[in-house]
Amino acid sequence: MNKTINNILNKKSNQRPIVKLDEKIANQIAAGEVIERPAAIVKELVENSVDAGATSVEILVSQGGKSIIQVKDNGWGIPKEELPIAVCRHATSKLIDNEISNVNTYGFRGEALPSIGASGRLNIKSKISKSEDAWEIFVEYDNIGKLIPTSLNLGTSIEVRDLFYKTPARLKFLKSDKIEQQAILDIFKRLSLINPNISFSLREISSSGSNKSIANYKGISFKNENSNNISVNDVNKYSLRVSQVLGNDIFQNLLPIVLSNEDLLIEGFISLPTFSRSTLAHQYFFVNGRPVWDKNLTSAIRVGYSDFIMKGRYPVIVIFINCLPETVDANVHPAKTEVRFQNLNYIKNSIISIIKSTIANFNTKTSSAVSEGMMQAFKKNISHNDIVKNKKIGFSGSFPHPINKRSVGNINNDSEFLLNEVSSRNYQDELSSRSENNEYNYKQHHEIGLPLGAPVAHIHENYIISQTSNGMIIIDQHAAHERIIYEKLKKFLKNKSIASQALLIPEIVELGEERSSILLEFNNEFENLGIILEPFGKKSICLRSLPEILGQVNGSFFLNDLADELLEYNNISVAEEKLEKVLSRIACHGSVRSGRKLTVTEMSVLLRTMEETPYSNQCNHGRPTFIELKLKDIEKLFNRN
Ligand code: ADP
Ligand code: MG
Repeated sequence: MNKTINNILNKKSNQRPIVKLDEKIANQIAAGEVIERPAAIVKELVENSVDAGATSVEILVSQGGKSIIQVKDNGWGIPKEELPIAVCRHATSKLIDNEISNVNTYGFRGEALPSIGASGRLNIKSKISKSEDAWEIFVEYDNIGKLIPTSLNLGTSIEVRDLFYKTPARLKFLKSDKIEQQAILDIFKRLSLINPNISFSLREISSSGSNKSIANYKGISFKNENSNNISVNDVNKYSLRVSQVLGNDIFQNLLPIVLSNEDLLIEGFISLPTFSRSTLAHQYFFVNGRPVWDKNLTSAIRVGYSDFIMKGRYPVIVIFINCLPETVDANVHPAKTEVRFQNLNYIKNSIISIIKSTIANFNTKTSSAVSEGMMQAFKKNISHNDIVKNKKIGFSGSFPHPINKRSVGNINNDSEFLLNEVSSRNYQDELSSRSENNEYNYKQHHEIGLPLGAPVAHIHENYIISQTSNGMIIIDQHAAHERIIYEKLKKFLKNKSIASQALLIPEIVELGEERSSILLEFNNEFENLGIILEPFGKKSICLRSLPEILGQVNGSFFLNDLADELLEYNNISVAEEKLEKVLSRIACHGSVRSGRKLTVTEMSVLLRTMEETPYSNQCNHGRPTFIELKLKDIEKLFNRN
């Protein structure tokens, strides 16, 4: 680096008198805080529209909002004489008696319009109901133009062109048009979710000038007052909007939540653990009507789901939190996207507990995506067209794909094979279980009515097929057992009632220094779980005792796994969460590995235990433990509908 760069390190400043910042500079600084990207402008403008009582908000963007952002509403408008004031800094109509805590509007800082004016070419058109005429004003950088008569129906239309044209350095920090557009869509969705009574539309003008709709949500009126809107009763306040915004496919996999205390109302939707996403993009939080991004809230979700979801997967969440205004500060961040709760732990714990109890109540439901996936798999494999197509290839005498050939050539052989397989079934097995069978038939009849039905077969040494009153279920025995052990361990731990079994010969396991010491750090917790560890030199551990419930365990595998788990979750501050991870890992060791034939009675016991075990519809890693196929779906597969 040859050029001397002017920075704090080579400062040569002298003491000088304090002066007030020039308005232009102040606006620019504020703009940097409020307007970091086009989506921030969309947020500010839409919030202004909502504050102005609009029932319809139309947004138009071009090039990810870099060249044009236009927000048009049917709110009460801005009077002509107030237009030049609206674009001045700290000018607001929303503070009543100078009380920030009384604010019930999105805005109150009077910073958005001047900041936007300092960032791009701003034009505001507005018409109020009392006036016949509409007026417009232009702001370019630091220059506020004159009022000009214009034409507009009631409301306000604000346009921002050529964002950051005066500050190319800031323009450079923007991402591609596509990514900026995505950010706009995201804030658009969030503001739509929290304002279900308002109609929202988002359109894009492409570089060729064509104009296409990106999203369009019709407003929902709750008391039938607006005949133009879709009307629903209050119970479904958010349901319809959530299904509009997230799409019906996702909505099908959401569970409603409500928790209502004297000082706290939490409502919204959370996804079934078997329905997850690879990013946090589908988690929406609102606090007292504001969309917020809060690490504490996402971490509460993570803890709530930690028992049910695989690492790196995130549930879909839409949560509306309402608390007493004096217990939350929305003025932490210039764009008000962060909040500070007076009693954060109370809110976090409430979220965690509502998640856990909601999931527990839906114990015998798995994601529709799971059974849909199964339907698709069936359809793919046995599609009539495939068979016909393959046949044709076969007949034409060309070289068919080897795999297809097998499946085509063997259509007849397959059924033969099936018959052979059935008739040559192991009679020894049959006979020995016959006495069990009579009793079983009666039992089976009774079991069919239960949620997980009556077991009828055990296949591939791991899957139980059971019949229910209106369909069939395939159960992954290993996954199910893992969850059962896990829940038992948790219960034992809570009741301090774990049965521990001393090893006949204590096992010395060499783990290395780091791994040994992290295990020993958790010695108290392990002791409560019936795992007795002692240091053996610096690098090894002596395993003396294990929880009885685990049965036979390979000590070295077991301790190495636990050390892995603890090292990986070393940065989790929530002790409870860490312990759950460890329990979950222990459960993996205890569960019956697939590979043993179960008797009907054993299968039955497993299903009935599942029905009683909380969260038994997914294993500890969020994989489903069973898949349900309804009779009507089976009929569909056979074209019987
Ligand atoms: P704030 O929203 O914090 O008051 P803004 O700079 O966003 O600050 O807006 C300044 C003022 O302009 C608002 O207080 C409001 O009176 C007026 N205003 C802005 N947008 C609209 C709109 N779409 N409809 C009616 N009034 C508006
Ligand atoms: Mg505002």
